[in-house]
Amino acid sequence: MVTPIEQRYINLHPGSAERYATAKDIFPDGVTHDGRRLSPFPIYATHGQGAHKWDVDGNRIIDYWTGHGSMILGHSHPDVVAAVTEQMKLGSHLSASSDLEIRWGQQVQELIPCAERVRFHSSGTEATMMGMRMARAYTGKTKIIKFDQHFHGWHDYASAGGSGLGGLPKETLSTMIVLPPNDISLVEKAIQDDGDVAALILEPTGAHMGQIPIKPSFLGELREVTERYGVVLIFDEVVTGFRTSKGGAQEYYGVTPDMASLAKILGGGLPGGAICGKAGIINTIQTTDDPEYNQFRRVGHNGTFNANPLSAAAGTTALNLVATTPVNEIANARAARMKQGFNDLLSRMEIPGCASGIASVVFLRLGVDHQCDKEVCIMTPEDMAVAGDAARTAQLNLGLLNQGIHAGNRFLTMAAHSEDDIDEAVEATGRVLTDLRGLGLV
Ligand code: PMP
Repeated sequence: MVTPIEQRYINLHPGSAERYATAKDIFPDGVTHDGRRLSPFPIYATHGQGAHKWDVDGNRIIDYWTGHGSMILGHSHPDVVAAVTEQMKLGSHLSASSDLEIRWGQQVQELIPCAERVRFHSSGTEATMMGMRMARAYTGKTKIIKFDQHFHGWHDYASAGGSGLGGLPKETLSTMIVLPPNDISLVEKAIQDDGDVAALILEPTGAHMGQIPIKPSFLGELREVTERYGVVLIFDEVVTGFRTSKGGAQEYYGVTPDMASLAKILGGGLPGGAICGKAGIINTIQTTDDPEYNQFRRVGHNGTFNANPLSAAAGTTALNLVATTPVNEIANARAARMKQGFNDLLSRMEIPGCASGIASVVFLRLGVDHQCDKEVCIMTPEDMAVAGDAARTAQLNLGLLNQGIHAGNRFLTMAAHSEDDIDEAVEATGRVLTDLRGLGLV
């Protein structure tokens, strides 16, 4: 049965429906990213400007997906457009080192506390893969500890503990130890019992961009235990880097890991990734005079598009704006206004739930009555399951798109969002909640 929300979605998006009919004979599920699957069909976008984007049917959408978290300046920021346009005229790949990559690397060193050395990639997946490998080369050990549902990209090791495990050798998965977060005694026991742990990697605000938060005190505990056992601590700052604060979650919480993976905001909206950290660990890539070392112990690393000039042009421009203008402060203020708006709305409508999140990330949780500090909202797994109810979330996604809001139960704010964009999103959410109530979903 088609719900009124779905029917309205179908009516508002005929052009997207038409494209999807073609796309599903080209791409599995009709899409090019698991996260863009949407029933009955996804939207097809044409262009973006600032906080807004448009779909093929001419609908204007306030964007809270924000390039999967890579845009904090807004779409087509004029400085980024100018830098990339200029670089395009000069060449997009000169098969050579460049001034741009030096500046880009220096900015990472200046902003991210652990970044003594840097190596660029094209994505966050590559950055976490390289981080794990460097830690293994550095320590001479094999195992990596990760936490339940923490996402580190789609490479074989990162996939452990997740779903979609087809094609992964069990030998590969057996090198990963997956633990529940927030219990330091389990971490210490795993390190002791195994004796072959090279590194521990985590999303430093919690799984799925902080959707399942960790206790902030857990970070300090991890730092202490990993240091004591000589285990490399990797913060996956692909989302939190340049967002949770200018220096990432490590600066925000004052806990410096040994390494950090970066991507998203790093690339200014173009593909880009980096692993950074202690010189001794990142230098496992460095060649030496010892042929035996170079062959068997050095970490080899190529990559056609590492530090490519277009990404470097966009990335240096974005990081310069992050470093010298109140980009984070504005995005954070917008998120704070949104959280307040949502929490007021929920009280007014007497709907159980809350809006929480750190810095410029807002999570809307419905269906659970509870207390939290509206920043780090830790719920029981049972309550999380209620809040994450798939049927409700699906209707919420479509309902918000019908109102010209691309979000879901997660909203990422940008400096480009105006207060009006926030207020419009809150009001639109109120209308969707009324519809959800009509469907018995809240
Ligand atoms: N780590 C985290 C924490 C992420 O959120 C993501 C992507 N959402 C990745 C790694 C992978 O990055 P990419 O998509 O650039 O490969």
